Order: sequence, then C-alpha cells, then structure tokens
Amino acid sequence: MTTRKLQTVIPSIAASDGAGVKLRRSLGSAQTLRHDPFLMLDEFFSDNPDDYIRGFPSHPHRGFETVTYMLDGHMRHEDSIGHRGDLGPGDAQWMTAGRGIIHSEMPQQTEGRMRGFQLWINLPAKEKMKPAAYRDIPAREIPTVSLENGGEVRVIAGAFVQGERCTSGPIQGLSTEPLYLDVRLPARASFAAPVTTGHHAFLYVYDGKATVGDEGQSLPHRAAGLLADGDVVRVGAGSQEAHFLLLAGKPLREPIVQHGPFVMNTREEIEQALADYRDGTLTVRNS
Ligand code: MN
Repeated sequence: MTTRKLQTVIPSIAASDGAGVKLRRSLGSAQTLRHDPFLMLDEFFSDNPDDYIRGFPSHPHRGFETVTYMLDGHMRHEDSIGHRGDLGPGDAQWMTAGRGIIHSEMPQQTEGRMRGFQLWINLPAKEKMKPAAYRDIPAREIPTVSLENGGEVRVIAGAFVQGERCTSGPIQGLSTEPLYLDVRLPARASFAAPVTTGHHAFLYVYDGKATVGDEGQSLPHRAAGLLADGDVVRVGAGSQEAHFLLLAGKPLREPIVQHGPFVMNTREEIEQALADYRDGTLTVRNS
C-alpha cells in the first residue's frame, strides 16, 4: 500500500461569478491550476443575501461537466433542454454540457445561508460534442456510510471501499471514473480510502483542519490539496471536527483550450463554440 502524500496546495481566492455571486475558487483560479480531469472547484458560502441573491442567470457551457453539491440553501436550475431542478441541502446535480447547454442557477431564498460547491470535470475529446444531459440527485439517493469513529462519508460518485464493504454512489460509468466523497470526521479521528493508482486526487477541507498522509502534512482550511500518486488516501482531523471533499478521477492527458464556459481541445473548436452560441446553434444537435 502506498499512501498518497500532499503534493501541492492551491489556496482558494475570493472570486465572483454569474451576476456577482461571491465565492472562493481554488482549482481553476488560474488556467495552470487544474488537476486533470478537474478544471475548477468553487465554494460558495455566505449568510449575506447580497453575496448570492443575483445568482447565475442564463449562460452557456460546452465540452465538460458541472457538478453542483449543496450544503445549505436552495437553488433552482433551468436549462435549454427543458430540465428544471430544485437543489436543497444535501442534494447534488450532475450536468453534462457536452455539445452545449444554456442554463440558469438562481437562489430560491432571500435570506439565510447559501453554501455549496461547483466542480467542473473535463470530458474526453471524443465526448465533448455528445448530447447534453442533466441529472438531479436528491439527498436521499446519496448513500451515507457511518464510520466506526463516529464520522460519516457521503458517496456522490464512484465507490467508497471499507474492508469488505463497498458503497457505490449514484454516479457511475463515466469515462473519467470520478470519485466524489463528502467526509465528516470527529476531532482527532482518522480516515482512509482506497483510490485507484494513477488517478488524480485532491482534498478540499471546508470545515476545521486536516492532516494528510502517513507524515501528517497539514492542509489548510479552504484550500485544494493535490495528492501524489498512491493507492490509499489517509486524512486526520485536527482538534476540531473536520469536513472535507475527496475527489479523484482518471486524467485525460489531452490539450485544453478554455474560453470562459467553453472547454475544448483546440482554438478552432473554441471559435466554433463562440460562433454556434452567437448563431443560436450551440445546443442544437447534429447541425
Ligand atoms: Mn453554469
């Protein structure tokens, strides 16, 4: 067994997206700060409606997947292929932009806490132009595994293996084989999960502090900790309860050209996406 070490820390920085939603961006805060196949991770967290009330009005995507995971608050999704979804605490939404989708994500509350994450996962070149797809994953469909130390693991994508027991999440069968776990550890408790060798993995601690690996390297709060290769991830909580995301996926090792909400392999494909959006054919199949 090779325990994965903490290799690179990407601190989150204050950013604003949509119509002025304040958030913290770690992965994706610069185009060099990615972890193939992961393009971006945003955390939005505020008790002040001025920070989120304007939401993310209608905007396009092409070439990748967006995954929204809510901890607190209520957002509504509407898109160009007619899907409507309500996201509340503990719910997730898995959207494959593929060839193209135009959607909005708007808060359904005027006060109180809004907290959650949006992750962008790249698609392989051969799937970038596939039809768009959307899946709402209500909290009750996300399995929760209780740990012996009193902790808890929610399995959103991939599988969490503990001894003989394997718990699979609702999202399976994607080319990038994503693992998406949300873990809560009591103070001073520890956690281990096998992660496929060769897959890129990272942690994001959103409450408390955590240490990583056999040497207990410390990972700051609200930073993405990219992990070196290995077959097991070990995390320890500090003197307080720790909450963190563990994400892993199969790297695509393909060129990336990104222009805002379009993520393709070549400059020409970006020009085509911009032209299609301008012409109103971004979301049209087989044009
Ligand atoms: Mn979007």
